[in-house]
Amino acid sequence: MTQSDHNISPAVPLAVTIPIPAHWQKTARGKGFSLTRRGADRYQIMLECHHCGREHRSKRNVLMDHTPLCPHCIEQRWREDARSVGLELLHRDPDDHRHGFYRAACGHSVRRQFGRIRQIARGKHALRCEICHCVWEKPRPRSPAGN
Ligand SMILES: [Zn+2]
Ligand SMILES: [Zn+2]
Repeated sequence: MTQSDHNISPAVPLAVTIPIPAHWQKTARGKGFSLTRRGADRYQIMLECHHCGREHRSKRNVLMDHTPLCPHCIEQRWREDARSVGLELLHRDPDDHRHGFYRAACGHSVRRQFGRIRQIARGKHALRCEICHCVWEKPRPRSPAGN
């Protein structure tokens, strides 16, 4: 055994080498994804989103029994929600997948639920910065023909 043998990665799990059944591919396409390859075990699959072209790891049963959601598209939507009310999504809260940190126009960073930002984007709520107490709400559209 040579020294380099200690560093080689473990053998590829058997499941990864099993061909992906055609009906999985078909189901994935019908739900807006391409099934590119298997994941680390036989329950995991990698899905490429037809909308943004990026890949994420999912599970076979999520694909077959539910509708997989592209985390990249979701994050993109959060960013757009934030931008539409003058906030910048800084990063997700590593401790709570429903929360993110945002920078407001006042420069302060606030932690909010993604769903709450979405409601502000829809004009249902205003938001107040705890530090300087400035309030953001969705700016009123100036012209209906905008965009
Ligand atoms: Zn996507
Ligand atoms: Zn502030």
